[in-house]
Amino acid sequence: MSLQLQVDASLKPFNSFGVDVRARLFAEAHNDDEVREALQYCAERELPLLVIGGGSNVLLTQDVQALVLRMATRGIRVIEDSGQRVVVEAEAGEVWHAFVLWTLAQGFAGLENLSLIPGTVGAAPMQNIGAYGVEIKDVFAGLTALDRQTGQLRDFTLEECNFGYRDSVFKQHPGRWLILRVRFALSRATRLHLEYGPVRQRLSEQGIHQPTATDVSRAISSIRSEKLPDPAVLGNAGSFFKNPVVSSAMAAELKLTHPNLVGYPQADGQVKLAAGWLIETAGWKGFREDDAGVHRLQSLVLVNYGAATGLQLLSLAQRIQEDIARRFNVKLEMEPNLY
Ligand code: FAD
Ligand code: NAP
Repeated sequence: MSLQLQVDASLKPFNSFGVDVRARLFAEAHNDDEVREALQYCAERELPLLVIGGGSNVLLTQDVQALVLRMATRGIRVIEDSGQRVVVEAEAGEVWHAFVLWTLAQGFAGLENLSLIPGTVGAAPMQNIGAYGVEIKDVFAGLTALDRQTGQLRDFTLEECNFGYRDSVFKQHPGRWLILRVRFALSRATRLHLEYGPVRQRLSEQGIHQPTATDVSRAISSIRSEKLPDPAVLGNAGSFFKNPVVSSAMAAELKLTHPNLVGYPQADGQVKLAAGWLIETAGWKGFREDDAGVHRLQSLVLVNYGAATGLQLLSLAQRIQEDIARRFNVKLEMEPNLY
């Protein structure tokens, strides 16, 4: 067996919250054979298997009684090139932002708005990662996953992934499919998405009036570096709550009592409320109890000042949910995956 198993391993370096819990067993998979070895090892011992990438969208609330398999597969290749349109395939363990930079360096546009999102390529479809008006569903060309129930490989089309707002078939059926590689349809022509005000504003501050995809990537990276805490410095998992989508009638009613309410009308007539605004208005911005807190600049982000446990962070999140429900009658849904 080429898979290297570690017994009773600390997961602190492998989750961006920096929560100090342990895994019963830990291993890294560098190729498909090692993934299969891990599945077989677990099946023979009736041991659960938890797959992780960068650990930037998980909240670990206790020691993990499983084999934690970290995807460390590498490889990026162009598999179709018809001039304007190219399809690029990347292995699950590739670091997402490094992959985005690689595509831009080849002159392929499409992923620039998703710059500087932590984590791996393989986890990106899990919650259909999105930022600044683009989600991976917009450039998705397919993926190959291993069905953990049957051991068979399966290719997924866009429709089969059932992508939604921070959602997918993979999130709806946790632990069923292990994503091995993902394909993206990118373009040599630049069709930029500049709907989000801060991006346009940053480009104009820089005197850039006809931006390239790389300009957009750089502008977004600079905004993100200023606004978001770096997990290497301050533990966090990005936005802890999804933006709630409510009926237009409910949004109108809330606007009567809260005239500054921030909401964005959706194509289906509903309204997406800015969860960060609700949390900040309720007074949680900068709140800290022991080492668990709400970031002082970004109220959607819960932070670990050092020694917070997963349960302390979860308890803080639940208190925020209860408070927002009481004040606004709005249900906030947690975004990270809880273990
Ligand atoms: P992990 O946290 O390791 O795993 C997440 C989930 O996916 C787990 O349930 C895990 O079991 C599963 N999983 C991981 N790999 C695989 C695989 N190969 N096959 C099957 N299941 C798998 N998200 C956004 O959408 N937009 C943002 O703008 C954004 N900004 C962020 C900013 C910061 C500072 C941080 C810390 C997080 C941010 N996130 C954002 C959340 C996070 O970066 C993404 O969800 C990312 O895709 C998680 O990747 P990961 O490899 O770290 O996944
Ligand atoms: P922001 O610009 O302060 O805006 C607040 C919220 O309003 C965002 O969450 C965004 O929703 C929404 N919004 C802003 N402009 C919009 C527009 N023109 N049309 C529709 N919705 C709009 O947000 P931010 O917190 O700095 O984040 C910037 C982007 O990065 C957002 O897209 C956000 O989702 C993403 N991000 C995600 C995470 C994560 O962990 N999931 C962490 C950091 C940043 P959306 O969230 O739906 O885009």
